[in-house]
Amino acid sequence: MKVASIIVDVLAKGTDRPFDYIIPQSLEDVVVKGMRVIVPFGPRKIQGFVINIKESSDVARLKEIDEMVDLQPVLTEELLSLGKWLTEETLCYAMSAFQAMLPAAMKAKYDKEISLPSEEVKHQLHESVRPLFSKGSIRFSDVKNHPAAPYLLKDISKNFLDVTYIVKNRVNKKMMRGVMLSPSMQQEDIEKYRDGLGKKGEKQKIVLQYLLAQKEKMSVKHLKDELGITDAPIKSLISKGFLEKIEIELYRNPFAKREFQKTSALSLTEEQSKVIKPIHTSIEEDKHNVFLLYGVTGSGKTEVYLQSIQRVLEKGEEAIVLVPEISLTPQMVTRFKGRFGSKVAVLHSGLSAGEKYDEWRKIQRGEVSVVVGARSAIFAPFKNLGIIIIDEEHESSYKQEENPRYHARDVAIYRGEYHNCPVVLGSATPTLESFARGSKGNYTLLTLSKRMNNAQMPGVEKVDMREELRNGNRSMFSTVLFEKMKDRLAKGEQIVLMLNKRGHSSFIMCRDCGFVPTCPHCEISLTYHRHQNLMKCHYCGHQEQLATKCPECESDHIRYFGTGTQKVEEELTKVIPEASVVRMDVDTTSRKGSHEKLLAKFESGQAQILLGTQMIAKGLDFENVTLVGVLSADTMLHLPDFRASEKTFQLLTQVSGRAGRHSLPGEVVIQTYTPEHYSIDLASHHDYDAFYKKEMIMRKMLKYPPFYYLALVTVAHENMAVAMGETDKIASFLQNKLSSNAIILGAVPSPIAKIKDRYRYQCMIKYRNEPDLFSSLHFLLEQYKGKMQKQNLTINVDLNPYVMM
Ligand code: ADP
Ligand code: ZN
Ligand code: ZN
Repeated sequence: MKVASIIVDVLAKGTDRPFDYIIPQSLEDVVVKGMRVIVPFGPRKIQGFVINIKESSDVARLKEIDEMVDLQPVLTEELLSLGKWLTEETLCYAMSAFQAMLPAAMKAKYDKEISLPSEEVKHQLHESVRPLFSKGSIRFSDVKNHPAAPYLLKDISKNFLDVTYIVKNRVNKKMMRGVMLSPSMQQEDIEKYRDGLGKKGEKQKIVLQYLLAQKEKMSVKHLKDELGITDAPIKSLISKGFLEKIEIELYRNPFAKREFQKTSALSLTEEQSKVIKPIHTSIEEDKHNVFLLYGVTGSGKTEVYLQSIQRVLEKGEEAIVLVPEISLTPQMVTRFKGRFGSKVAVLHSGLSAGEKYDEWRKIQRGEVSVVVGARSAIFAPFKNLGIIIIDEEHESSYKQEENPRYHARDVAIYRGEYHNCPVVLGSATPTLESFARGSKGNYTLLTLSKRMNNAQMPGVEKVDMREELRNGNRSMFSTVLFEKMKDRLAKGEQIVLMLNKRGHSSFIMCRDCGFVPTCPHCEISLTYHRHQNLMKCHYCGHQEQLATKCPECESDHIRYFGTGTQKVEEELTKVIPEASVVRMDVDTTSRKGSHEKLLAKFESGQAQILLGTQMIAKGLDFENVTLVGVLSADTMLHLPDFRASEKTFQLLTQVSGRAGRHSLPGEVVIQTYTPEHYSIDLASHHDYDAFYKKEMIMRKMLKYPPFYYLALVTVAHENMAVAMGETDKIASFLQNKLSSNAIILGAVPSPIAKIKDRYRYQCMIKYRNEPDLFSSLHFLLEQYKGKMQKQNLTINVDLNPYVMM
């Protein structure tokens, strides 16, 4: 007898452990570790991951595995152990960890099949339900919107009907007709037949000739296109047994229509050669090492990545490159595809689920050896990893904000250790955590201090917007910025304008009494959406009509404040009507391919101004851009987040880096209400080192990372007293468990004290060395599992949180 240990798809504390099932004889040699199977679980049939195969079990009366979902394992041995590690490191369920490693298209949904146990029951059913069963059993998804559905549900609850759960097998693969030389035929026989073909069989001859030379499966379409033939000769070869019909998997190639110009390795600068050397050594000697590649914008980091990967491919190994979603631009993709062609798979959120699945399958089958993608690409199922690169390592999007709450950097280092290969973290503005590790020697610090071709860093001018207002300029453009824009347009050069929308953008306020409309379900001000003339909550989607009168004081001086990109665009067309503007924000880039189109319009010079949110701050490289304007530098400074200064510094440095990357010199104008703030001041001097020193002093003083670790426990409940009380209990429990060096703050209301009608309280733990912390948190979650389910209490534990709200 063979037994499989299986993690089942039930997200609950009590079921977060392997369950044993008998592998039925018919599947004995078929079921292996890392596959998904369907198993009976209570009254249901659910999916599970096989994590182990054993000869016996301690449990009596085991049930059998029902059927298989996968025919090949979807998780490698390495990914299975990574999953285990993730559950320990992030306190998530094993199931969530495994699910996170697979493309969304593979997370099959369940459907329910409803059937009549016998004809006699029929008359007991509601009269509107009876006709539904005229052709036998039904799928719930097919009838759930039927007028009889409520009666159907009632009949089910009365146990009149049988319900079975089935896993929908979504068709993910696109298949097409293909042929191959019949494997049961000897090659000589095929050749003999070919040589015997006369004038009449000429077309058949061509087909055989071609297939004998290519030795590959071919789609029928390809054969017809390539050889200029019809179906007839193929059909007759099939009927004679020389060819065999097969199905060929067709990949939906999102870049099919694009041509990538082949590029080759540039000869490296002295600085580049110096930093690439230890990376190459690490690759050649199969040594795990973490490198922090600290290089100013435009210093040629990407070329270092490309030539490191080159070495990895020469060794027959594979590479993962992570870039932030936001900078996964066509420009970035082009650089990797241009160098490595069809060896590259690309994974980003702009792809449909099917396209992502296709890219993932190429990795799984070993058809590509480089993957470029956003966060989740770190789980690419490569088996011989030779390098992992994380570009813009400071980006907060590398931390997943739902379970499993992992940071891609930690996963990269885990995999790097497993495969004995280097991990390269690149940034012009590394996180304090990474730079501190680089300075202490935990990571190897590599520096690129100069821009390519000795291009100067752009000159930066700070403009005090309070001063502008005092001088009577009420527009959103300072006099300096406006003059410079005019100048560039006259010279035929291009401009990038960034509006940091993350602060308060377009909220509504009564000018008489200061009333700000907030969401009735969440404690957050509503955002004005001009196109629909609605106020919307960005947390729960609540929307209401724009108030024309203040509900507090009845004044009609109720206006929207803050500037959105839309408003800036309108203003631009008023004050500089001659310029053509490309606007890039979530609204204009949500459609597939729109990102690419907008950038192409700017690149071709059809537009002179590129206006956008943070999404334009990264990764873009346009030769003709000589002016960058930041409309309001300080919106992000005032968020309740200890990283606010760091994030402001990073963003300003990144966006400034868009100017003057090539032969034309660049300039930056930063508009701000707090020019004296050190983030803004030091960013304007491109002085990361001074910023690092200053910010480290602040972090040390306030006991924040990298001096302390953080853990954030957030509790939510519809009753405020319950949320507060439970958080208090958790805080004192931890106080007892942890050493006196740990600092426990709270219970306090979260910065966003209510979301979707649920009150939120939190407690923050600052600690340096608490070996008992993880086990205490585990214990806590275990203790609370009943309460969480029965009372609808939510407890979230975030280790190393990036979002403090
Ligand atoms: P970063 O990633 O550090 O911002 P990039 O890799 O984008 O910098 O390099 C900036 C520019 O310099 C790019 O246009 C790139 O093609 C060019 N470049 C990089 N390395 C070299 C080199 N060794 N020789 C010539 N040009 C280079
Ligand atoms: Zn009012
Ligand atoms: Zn809301």
